[in-house]
Order: sequence, then C-alpha cells, then structure tokens
Amino acid sequence: MKVDLHCHSTISDGVLSPAQVAARAHANGVELWALTDHDELSGLAEARRSAQALGMSFITGVEISVTFAGHTVHILGLGVDEGDTALRAGLDGIRQGRAVRAREMADRLTALGIPGSYEGALPYAANPSLISRTHFARFLVDSGHCKTMQAVFDNYLGDGKPANVPVHWSTLEQAVGWIVGAGGRAAIAHPGRYDYTPLQFDALFDRFKELGGTAIEVVTGSHTPDQYAEYAGVARRYGFLASCGSDFHSPKEGKLDLGQIPALPADLKPIWHDWA
Ligand code: AMP
Ligand code: MN
Ligand code: MN
Ligand code: MN
Repeated sequence: MKVDLHCHSTISDGVLSPAQVAARAHANGVELWALTDHDELSGLAEARRSAQALGMSFITGVEISVTFAGHTVHILGLGVDEGDTALRAGLDGIRQGRAVRAREMADRLTALGIPGSYEGALPYAANPSLISRTHFARFLVDSGHCKTMQAVFDNYLGDGKPANVPVHWSTLEQAVGWIVGAGGRAAIAHPGRYDYTPLQFDALFDRFKELGGTAIEVVTGSHTPDQYAEYAGVARRYGFLASCGSDFHSPKEGKLDLGQIPALPADLKPIWHDWA
C-alpha cells in the first residue's frame, strides 16, 4: 500500500490548497494519506472531503512545534480528533507565538538591511493565523534578496543565524499530551534533522516514550537513505511504530513528491498497522 502521512498545504507553509494536495497525492498513487499542517487543524475538513471524493483513505494529522533541550523538534499527531478542545487551545497558543516572532524577525531583517519583510511575507501566508519562516524565505527569494530557500536559512533565518528569533514553542509533555488526549498517535518527525548529541537523542526518545509517544518517522523527504537505516534502528531499539511521509510543501521545493517514498524496512511495524 502506498502511504504518505506527512505533508503541508496553504493552511501552513505549503503552496497547494488541501484539495490540491489531496488530488496530487491521489494522482501519485497514494492510498492512505494524512495532511499534517504545522500547528493547524483547519485544513482537515477540506482534506477529508477531497480524499473521500477521490476514494483515498484519509487520516487526520498535525505537525506540532516543540522546544526540547534548546532545539525545535516536530511531533506529528496522527488520527487526532480535530474537535478536541485542549489540542485546539494548545495550537492556538503556538500560532500566537508565531505572530509575535514574525514581527521580531522582520525587525532583525530590517536591521540587517532588508526592510519591509513583514509586509512582504504576509501575502505568502494564505492563512493569516499561521506565519512561518518559510513565508519569509519565499519572499526573500522572489524579491531577489537570496538566490535559494536554502540560502535564506543559511544566511538569515536558520537556527543561530542573525535574523532567527529563538522561540519557545510547546513542551514535549504538552504536545504528546494534546495528541494522546485527542485520541491520536504521536510520532517524532524527521529525527535526522535535529542537532543533538547522542545523549540528547536518547533523552528525547526516552522522555517521548515515557509520555506516551509511540512512533518515529523513519522514511521521509527530510532524511537521507543512511538516515532511513539509522532511525529504523531506533524504532527497533525503542519498540516504536514506524511512520513515513514525503514532507511535501511545494512542487518546486523539497526532495520527495507526494507518494514518492521508499518502502519502510519490512520488519518494522507501520503506524497504520491497525488502521482500517
Ligand atoms: P517555522 O516553523 O516557522 O520555524 O519554519 C520552519 C519551516 O521552514 C520548516 O517546516 C520547513 O518547511 C522550512 N525550512 C526549515 N529549514 C529549511 C531549509 N534549510 N530550507 C528550506 N526550508 C526550510
Ligand atoms: Mn514546513
Ligand atoms: Mn518538520
Ligand atoms: Mn513537515
């Protein structure tokens, strides 16, 4: 079965609407699909309707921003009840933090000789309540300040770079609590992207498991093939279910398109093993 459980729409920092993402996933042969916008649930109704119309199995999703040991970690919540009050309130809080941070990011860019980036980035954020570094990055590329998205992150917006505003997102405890409380399964997204020491990685995996987290993303557009093997090893060691997803944002950005995901190692138990 072709499964893609990680991607983004215009509800967060993707460039296609939920219905367009559904259509592209279906056209690429996806049979089980989840939309996982950053810190937002408001695309799920359209996503579900579109998937149903296409005859594609759908699972709800969200990618929650967390701060753990001084770095940002993304936790996927799959199969959550999108009406859950605590989850909705928690994500609301994160989005408000994003709005404040966006102003500050723009102030830093102004000080670095790039004025007007807040006003510039806003039109890129189709959902005004979810503003992301990605929207700033697209603006900086299209306005000629940087050649590529990667250059924006390398020179300005990446962690520790001069226009980056460190954010305290939610805690791991909160994010896993909201997901499990909303009836979903929590999965650590793209672990290969985090700049942790081996000791910090173990602390993340141990604490996540203690809190009720049950899965890890093994195959994703954000991993290299070496990292597929590395995090398959982590799944085995910790008894985590395995997840996979393209992390698709745009036809023009990123490594994998929707559904273009190598298979999970056959011995791992997929996160969807008991989903109809
Ligand atoms: P934010 O959630 O606002 O901190 O923005 C993070 C988003 O920026 C991620 O979800 C990615 O979509 C994007 N991103 C992070 N690093 C890079 C990078 N090096 N190149 C392109 N996009 C990136
Ligand atoms: Mn993103
Ligand atoms: Mn992510
Ligand atoms: Mn993502």
